[in-house]
Amino acid sequence: MKKKQLEILLEGLEGFRDPVPEREQYVTPARVAAEMLYLAYLHGDLGVVCDLGCGTGTLAVGAALLGARAIGVEIDAGALAVARSNAGKLGVDVDFVRGDVSSIGLREIETVIMNPPFGAQRASQGDRAFLKKALETAKVIYSLHNRGSEGFIRRFVEPCVVQEIHRIPFPLKRCFEFHKSDVRTIEVELYRIECQ
Ligand code: SAH
Repeated sequence: MKKKQLEILLEGLEGFRDPVPEREQYVTPARVAAEMLYLAYLHGDLGVVCDLGCGTGTLAVGAALLGARAIGVEIDAGALAVARSNAGKLGVDVDFVRGDVSSIGLREIETVIMNPPFGAQRASQGDRAFLKKALETAKVIYSLHNRGSEGFIRRFVEPCVVQEIHRIPFPLKRCFEFHKSDVRTIEVELYRIECQ
């Protein structure tokens, strides 16, 4: 499947019905998701893949479309129901599991692909719990972070190593009251991290 075709399929998926700001529930835009997944595909990293905080399933479903055996972990039951329906619509099999990334046990995962909460809202530690679980679980990690995260990420993942950073535009649609404009484009960093 071509990257553009993947993007078009992901574009048609349903998003959060009732997004919770504290959980930073933003759908990864189809173009960004296709970029991420295609990079993983070209690296041969789409074997057994886990999407941590899978939300409505964009990354997990996309990975499955490119041939991965995909698992999605998500804390929010409503989002998971949408994710299951999205996988059904595109006819792919994904294991969706309800759980908290800080405590769930995951085995035999080769690659984690994730768009974790950035920690921009009051929420939490943001991406730390996600990175920690990803490092515990996988040999290769693809993860999206705020601009300017490089120093933090490089230190946090040691002894694993950041192999690639791609800076990509990320259109944020207005989905919460506190957003002032309809679409605002920010720049995010896509990391490819490898552990020995
Ligand atoms: N990966 C999705 C959604 C990203 S938004 C996509 O690409 O579209 C981040 C997601 O992480 C939200 O769905 C949120 O509910 C989930 N999340 C936040 N904290 C979590 C936790 N501790 N455990 C599992 N999921 C969590």
